[in-house]
Amino acid sequence: MHDGLLVVDAGGRVVVANETFWKLFSLREVSGGTPLLDAVRNAELHQLITETLRKGEPRQSELALTGAQKNSERWLQVSAVPMKDDKIGTDGAVVLLHDITELKRVNEIRSDFVANVSHELRTPLSILRGYIETLLDNPKTSPKELARILEVMERHSKRLGLLVDDLLTLAQLESANSNLQLSEVNLSELFGKVVRDWEKKLVEKRLKVMVDLPATVAIVRADETRLQEVLYNLLDNAVKYSHENGEIRLHAEQGDDDEIALSVSDSGVGIGKNDLPRIFERFYRADKARTPESIRGTGLGLSIVKHIAQRHGGRVEAESELGRGTTIRVILPMAR
Ligand code: ATP
Ligand code: MG
Repeated sequence: MHDGLLVVDAGGRVVVANETFWKLFSLREVSGGTPLLDAVRNAELHQLITETLRKGEPRQSELALTGAQKNSERWLQVSAVPMKDDKIGTDGAVVLLHDITELKRVNEIRSDFVANVSHELRTPLSILRGYIETLLDNPKTSPKELARILEVMERHSKRLGLLVDDLLTLAQLESANSNLQLSEVNLSELFGKVVRDWEKKLVEKRLKVMVDLPATVAIVRADETRLQEVLYNLLDNAVKYSHENGEIRLHAEQGDDDEIALSVSDSGVGIGKNDLPRIFERFYRADKARTPESIRGTGLGLSIVKHIAQRHGGRVEAESELGRGTTIRVILPMAR
């Protein structure tokens, strides 16, 4: 049985309990007749059972068990139901303990997500509102000032738009009924197209691009639009976090176990050791202090990349050294 089960008599003595029950409390099984108080030291559980026995009514509550190790806390939903006997009244109680740790965790992730989204929306919105108020209060703003204000407003409304686009992409990738449109993708054509699309931004920052594509990995079976999105996101970062005159390398290689790795490397600012394991998390931005506001993103790009890789049955990897540069690798299973 997956749930913990305990039966106590009217005096609060253990009648029977299943293995899961003892496991939940990391205890060894006790013999029948032992007072529960002696076997399990948990005040909340006792209170719940005592009330059930006293009032003869079912009771329910949530219980947190703190484990010995960090992050080993477990959450239980406990239901106690009295057993009644017509002659002698309440005769004991049946207690069911259901592990709801995972549910709690998912809920926490969800509310973190909502908090993050709200936070990201608030900044551009409050800037927009501030300027709208300025314009309403000063109908005679000079054309020069007006142009400046409109430019800032445009920039922030674009940012809002990008954020919403990224959120929609994530939602689509996560929804169970979104399917990949798989086809044989010619990597040399894809790399060529992506580099052409990025020409202007690359030239602006005087970045040199190298495409390194061995003839052996010409084709990959993937959703071409999604794969292009991956490369766009990686290039966006590579350009954003590069110094002028830097170098960006697009590379594909065949791995050992029927895998193809696509990677984008740059010689830019790099990512610190503490940040590196977290860059694929939603909304995570490394070293906020050093990134100028003008290029600051929302921290969703790499989580989209990771999702797309996973939808293809693949994964992502990152390598970086502060001040030296970064390589992000997307590893996809090869077509059979
Ligand atoms: P978005 O892509 O949503 O506009 P973003 O670029 O900040 O925003 P991600 O692409 O998810 O977010 O990247 C997460 C963080 O990882 C970035 O904020 C940045 O600090 C770091 N990072 C990602 N790629 C690089 C890179 N090539 N060089 C240095 N730092 C990088
Ligand atoms: Mg990005």
